[in-house]
Amino acid sequence: MTPLNEAICIYERNYRPRKEVTSEIQRVLRGGFLKHLCKGLHLCKPRIVCIKPPESNCVGLYIGGTNDHPVICIVDSEFDPEVVEMDRAVESTIVHELIHAYLETCGIDSEDQDEEFVEDKARMLCDGRGEAFKGVLTLLDKWVEENDPEA
Ligand SMILES: [Zn+2]
Repeated sequence: MTPLNEAICIYERNYRPRKEVTSEIQRVLRGGFLKHLCKGLHLCKPRIVCIKPPESNCVGLYIGGTNDHPVICIVDSEFDPEVVEMDRAVESTIVHELIHAYLETCGIDSEDQDEEFVEDKARMLCDGRGEAFKGVLTLLDKWVEENDPEA
């Protein structure tokens, strides 16, 4: 099964994701920050699908193998509008998953990537906006160099 089919399989056809989340996703996709980031990471604009997995302990998921046209799943039910700052939370989730896609383009399988490292760099990017980009890219490439299975 292709990664894209897998993503669509877990997506329930009649499922209506939270409007607060889908409108944030649209806002992030249209925003200059994401465009800048995708360009810098040499990635296409991601395709984002809201899903409702049977059980979940994550807010987002990058579908491994899709780095040509990254597919990102968002578990919208995990975003509680009462608790989280929706805009920041949705954006940082998408950025986190894009870093997974980038590391994959560098030859590191999703399973071999370090969650804490990815989350930390996503936070740096989101907090620093465009400013932090070069520094974070250097850190990502350094990590790849140190963790490249082919090296
Ligand atoms: Zn992750």
